[in-house]
Amino acid sequence: MNNFLIENYQTLLNEIQKIVEKSGRDMNSIKLVAVSKNFPSDAIEILYEKGHRDFGENRAQDLREKYEDLKNLAIVWHFIGRIQTNKIKYIVPIAEYIHSVWRMKEIEEIQKRAEEINKTQKVLLEINISGENSKAGLIPNEVDAFLQEATSFKNIKIIGLMTMAPYTDNTHVIRNVFRSLRELRDNLNKKYTSIKELSMGMTNDYKMAIEEGATLLRIGTKIFGNRYL
Ligand SMILES: *Cc1c(COP(=O)(O)O)cnc(C)c1O
Repeated sequence: MNNFLIENYQTLLNEIQKIVEKSGRDMNSIKLVAVSKNFPSDAIEILYEKGHRDFGENRAQDLREKYEDLKNLAIVWHFIGRIQTNKIKYIVPIAEYIHSVWRMKEIEEIQKRAEEINKTQKVLLEINISGENSKAGLIPNEVDAFLQEATSFKNIKIIGLMTMAPYTDNTHVIRNVFRSLRELRDNLNKKYTSIKELSMGMTNDYKMAIEEGATLLRIGTKIFGNRYL
């Protein structure tokens, strides 16, 4: 487990670096979030010892348990999953970033919980670029109106946008999704200057995501291996 993990991790870092350089970007402009969902706290600790700090979880319960296991480590936790409003009270005290916010009732609850602990919560808005009904996220033309309201909550800082590419082998479609997210960010940034981050790119599509401007990569399988559910 040890060597396998470290090897995967280092291979990935090298690949990221190669693409970053080829794209004329800087390694400082991109952060890898190691998606540790379905893997035990021990696996997180192994990467932590190699100097990795940013880890992503998609369930509030797992986030709490792993936080408890590892609370003496300076981990930067990212919540990346579907949000249940009644679980926000567990997420806010732990997560430095919440990537997957898109409903006003989530914003309201995050504000309430962040205010209680005197925290400014960093949030990304999940965007449903393709507009499929089945997918989570705001559709692009809803985002401006959403931000007009959401930016008035004083314990929330909306720092960027997040998206999931559709399940398809068609790389053209995936690239267009990433490009559209970047264009949306560029447009919104003129009006909302805090909107800078692009959370996009997973195991199967992170190369394209880097080329299209991702600043936060969310990668699990390529580091930890397959999740057997
Ligand atoms: C699981 C998950 C990832 C990581 O996916 P991999 O394909 O394992 O790299 C990224 N983002 C979200 C929201 C996830 O749920």
